[in-house]
Amino acid sequence: MDFSHSERSQDYLTRLRAFMDEHVYPQEKAIMAKNRQLNPTGDWNTWSVIPEIEELKNKAKAAGLWNLFLPDADLGQDLTCTDYAPLAEETGRVIFAPEIFNCNAPDTGNMEVLYHFGSPYQQDTWLSPLLAGEIRSVFCMTEPDVASSDATNMEATIEEDGDSLILNGHKWWTTGLGHPNAKVAIFMGLSNPESAKHQQHSMVLVPLDSEGITIERMLTAVGEYDAPFGHGQVEFKNVRVPLENLIWDLGKGFAIAQGRLGPGRIHHCMRAIGMAERSLELAIKRGLQREAFGKPIIKLGGNAERIAQARLMIDQARLLTLNAAWKIDNLGVKHAMTEISAIKIVVPNMLQQVSDMAIQIHGGAGVSHDFPLAMFAAGARMLRLADGPDEVHLTMVSRLEIAKYSQGDKK
Ligand SMILES: Cc1cc2nc3c(=O)[nH]c(=O)nc-3n(C[C@H](O)[C@H](O)[C@H](O)COP(=O)(O)OP(=O)(O)OC[C@H]3O[C@@H](n4cnc5c(N)ncnc54)[C@H](O)[C@@H]3O)c2cc1C
Repeated sequence: MDFSHSERSQDYLTRLRAFMDEHVYPQEKAIMAKNRQLNPTGDWNTWSVIPEIEELKNKAKAAGLWNLFLPDADLGQDLTCTDYAPLAEETGRVIFAPEIFNCNAPDTGNMEVLYHFGSPYQQDTWLSPLLAGEIRSVFCMTEPDVASSDATNMEATIEEDGDSLILNGHKWWTTGLGHPNAKVAIFMGLSNPESAKHQQHSMVLVPLDSEGITIERMLTAVGEYDAPFGHGQVEFKNVRVPLENLIWDLGKGFAIAQGRLGPGRIHHCMRAIGMAERSLELAIKRGLQREAFGKPIIKLGGNAERIAQARLMIDQARLLTLNAAWKIDNLGVKHAMTEISAIKIVVPNMLQQVSDMAIQIHGGAGVSHDFPLAMFAAGARMLRLADGPDEVHLTMVSRLEIAKYSQGDKK
């Protein structure tokens, strides 16, 4: 395995870093402050697109730093998962930066679904404007009434009615639902209750202005509404969409989810490593600069050791992530299930510890909005749940490990 950056990846990284230095870091505090001004209430109707973000998106597109996540020469930049890793990490250092390069969740995962499984009609109607960054999308899987870490519990229904599909049910934690440009949902629901367990659900594209859709509220996540994206609770009541909005086929929901969540999860991890690296950098700078009890804070107590521990944790997590990326590139998502679940556990837990250490070194400033550390810590906490809680991934790793020895394969 070779994890060194390829020439192409290095070239993109150099240009991306220059872009971040010139355009993103100088505006970070101002844009974050504008985001927060949208936040005080959960009334998403008042949320607006921040013009500076749109300007930065246009600049990134013009600079060829657009759709970096998509390994396609025409529609993306044709970078492998391993090549994309350092780039995603770089964008993770600033909360809103992934969107500037059209590389933000949940749109990247949704675009991947449409890219791999969408019909030509679905790709023309939704993938093209998503790739252009003109519209946003959401993913409706989790439901308030059932334990959704076991997605086979999903109760919302999809019924065929002639050349239409009728959707009913409640969803929540629909990230991005409050965004003014959110136009389409991928809805996952129960369509074939008589089939085998993992062939009962389907995915359907639903325009968000369809009759019967009611956004009930935006949830707070660790105390923030995360405007202008938000996390919504939404009711689907007799929502009728044409049969041509069905993705792939009835009963293929889990087969599609497997494809969506693999790359989606690893991209989250790559960005989280960027957050951890920035937390460490800020902790060292602050610890060197500020003095207490006659010494720089970094030299007090066990602080230097904490810095060293953070370096070890970040590097271990990065190597594990690159290993997963390499396996996805060379063997395919299906052969990287242990590695994807492993990083989904290791990376957010690592970020939780590193961002917390950095907050502590900063004292009171660490939990304020003067630094991005509190947002990173909140992000780590949420990531331990989003895309499946730690325990579900531990179960996956243990199942695959035990299967190696319970099926007679003892190599
Ligand atoms: C910030 C954020 C954004 C999200 N965005 C989206 C989105 O865009 N679209 C979407 O559909 N969903 C989204 N989610 C939902 C997320 O995927 C679910 O919260 C997650 O899958 C867990 O489901 P649940 O909340 O129903 O928890 P439950 O299923 O009720 O589980 C609760 C707890 O039970 C325990 N548990 C579960 N399984 C096991 C096990 N096998 N062993 C031991 N303990 C176990 C775990 O501790 C788990 O945290 C988001 C969540 C968050 C926090």
